[in-house]
Amino acid sequence: MIIVLKAGATDREIRLIEEKIKSHGLSAHISKGTERTIIGAIGDERHVDPGVFEGLEYVEKVLRILKPYKLVSRDFRKEDTILTIRGQQIGGGTVALIAGPCSVEGREMMVGIAGKVAAAGASFLRGGAFKPRTSPYAFQGLGEEGLRYLAEAREATGLPVATELMDPRDIELVARYADVIQIGARNMQNFRLLTEVGKLGKPVILKRGLSATIVEWLMSAEYIASEGNQQIILCERGIRTYEQATRNTFDVSAIPVVKDLSHLPVIADPSHAAGKVSLVEPLSAAAIAAGADGLMIEVHQQPETALSDGPQSLKTDDFRGVVSRLAKIANAVGKTLGRT
Ligand code: PEP
Ligand code: MN
Repeated sequence: MIIVLKAGATDREIRLIEEKIKSHGLSAHISKGTERTIIGAIGDERHVDPGVFEGLEYVEKVLRILKPYKLVSRDFRKEDTILTIRGQQIGGGTVALIAGPCSVEGREMMVGIAGKVAAAGASFLRGGAFKPRTSPYAFQGLGEEGLRYLAEAREATGLPVATELMDPRDIELVARYADVIQIGARNMQNFRLLTEVGKLGKPVILKRGLSATIVEWLMSAEYIASEGNQQIILCERGIRTYEQATRNTFDVSAIPVVKDLSHLPVIADPSHAAGKVSLVEPLSAAAIAAGADGLMIEVHQQPETALSDGPQSLKTDDFRGVVSRLAKIANAVGKTLGRT
């Protein structure tokens, strides 16, 4: 249930509603917008009569939300959520540019790529220290050592760092180094992991699961939001279909669909969608044109020697040219690409 207050409702009135919601066994989530305050009453609301709120003079209206996700829905918050992380924006007029290698492979490698992508205009660094590999014999990531190199790369460039968390047991460790926690496609429905990052006061990139519907993806975001963390960035990274020509099928329609259903920023990862470096630029262009709030792109000095995802990684030397061409697409839709 969503309770929309009249403009000018006081803090005391907000508190009174909060208490009333709690007395019905529901939890209250308050969203103060530019014009009015909206309060979400979350929980089993079937036995709660909307009249108990409608009768209050400072309440404008009460809506029952029929969608299974609530806090992340547009009904709960009309305005787009814009996140600012160490001065770098995601959402609004900025297309964030998150770039870096699939895996952190070493200190020189990470700091070297970071310098190059920063010079080309990236706004965030990426790099996996814990890697979800299909084969247990494939490179699994450097773990804490990799996190330390990411921190050194941040130190050298000033760029905030996004890195994947795979296991709730590593949450304190990863949170100590990361500015943004990435939940990978394979863990989109690891509900314990979602609950734990929901308790963390850090932004989370939630990738779409390999075979997840949009509603399932938003329900996973709701897990995080319902624990109190609304700093969520949704990432479309391609879904599993019958098509074999690409690693996954990039669902460009998911971008405007999700932006319509949810107030959260939506970014695209063309690298994992395509699986092929030649497709990264056209899919990025399509994502920006479709309204994406950011791109996550894999970059490597020597993709042919990469320990993971080489075939889809742009060469650091080619990255700058791609960014300058994509910046024109961003400008054409009234946005700027990369560092703010
Ligand atoms: C990654 O970002 O390197 C990754 C493993 O992505 P995904 O979870 O989308 O497969
Ligand atoms: Mn990868």
